[in-house]
Amino acid sequence: MRAALPRFPVTTVGSWPRSEVLLRAMKRRAPELPRLQDEAVLAALRAQEAAGADIVTDGEQRRDNFTSFLSERVEGFERMSMADLLDHVEDKAAFESILQALDVPAYAIRNNVAVGRLRATKPLVLDDYLFLRQHTDKPIKVTLPGPYILVRSSWVQALSSRAFTDRDQLCDDVVTLLRNELQALAEAGADVVQFDEPVLTELVFAGKSSTHTFMCAALAASADPTGELALAVDLMNRVVDGIEGPLRAVHVCRGNWSRDEAVLLKGSYDDLMPHLARMRLDQYVLEYATPRAGDQALLAKLPKTAHIGFGVVNPRTSELEDPAAIAARVRALAETLGHERIHLNPDCGFGTFAERPMNSSECAADKVRMLAEAARLLRG
Ligand SMILES: [Zn+2]
Repeated sequence: MRAALPRFPVTTVGSWPRSEVLLRAMKRRAPELPRLQDEAVLAALRAQEAAGADIVTDGEQRRDNFTSFLSERVEGFERMSMADLLDHVEDKAAFESILQALDVPAYAIRNNVAVGRLRATKPLVLDDYLFLRQHTDKPIKVTLPGPYILVRSSWVQALSSRAFTDRDQLCDDVVTLLRNELQALAEAGADVVQFDEPVLTELVFAGKSSTHTFMCAALAASADPTGELALAVDLMNRVVDGIEGPLRAVHVCRGNWSRDEAVLLKGSYDDLMPHLARMRLDQYVLEYATPRAGDQALLAKLPKTAHIGFGVVNPRTSELEDPAAIAARVRALAETLGHERIHLNPDCGFGTFAERPMNSSECAADKVRMLAEAARLLRG
């Protein structure tokens, strides 16, 4: 059963910067890694609690990134580097130009490719949730990659078509995988389950922007954005329909791999809103700290019953936002949306990719503290 939340609950989007010790152990696959991961989770938890978070996460300390960790828990996914993938993508020239445009070394990024029918060999995240539950009384948010990004990023025609009759069959496997996990998390009492779908914005901007996220790189360039968005909505609803208990959330950002705003996607959520509104969800976690995201008035287009995870601090800067200014923005939004619907969070995670944290853990804690201070002002 979901715990009661204070008004304007403070939370994060999921990831927390990993320590050097943890990163080195992950890279070496050190035998002491499980112990170090437990310690890292507890450190991330205590940091969030001390900073005043009302809903905590495990900081994704057991993951190398928000999605590729699944290859350790799911049969059928093979982890490949971008360099490995280059041999197999349909449009090599486009893929190479994407890699060049990204402010990320290609060798540093791993992506799961669907090379066999998917089957969970252990829980995707349930064990991580249960560990955290033993160590805190706070409501817990669990994050999972969304069904669309899993399908989109793991389908590589030349490799996946050997194992699947078509992409629809991969869709079926992904829905089963995530739906089973959501059901297990609901039964275990998880408070929030957030599905990350960072590439939905790119779909909307397809053709309007020259910057593509690497996650979409493997897809044929001719894919029709409208059809893809309809698929994203359908997949999400197939995952969540009828499973009650946790607040079922989607998080959509514009990439979180660089502090250079110029290389990240730009554009308002306007064209995406009708599609998001068709997802039968309880919460939308969206970026509004970055001016790249456009006007917050658009949030009125989402279902009136849904909670909004309002991004009001930038996870990629060192400057701390002013709590009074945050509170003023949230108050203005609350006038139109209602006071009971708004959660305060950063725009995205503080450490989406292990090798490239967007901030230090000290700054992440300070940013959460600013959110908590803003919440105190709003509640008062
Ligand atoms: Zn994000």
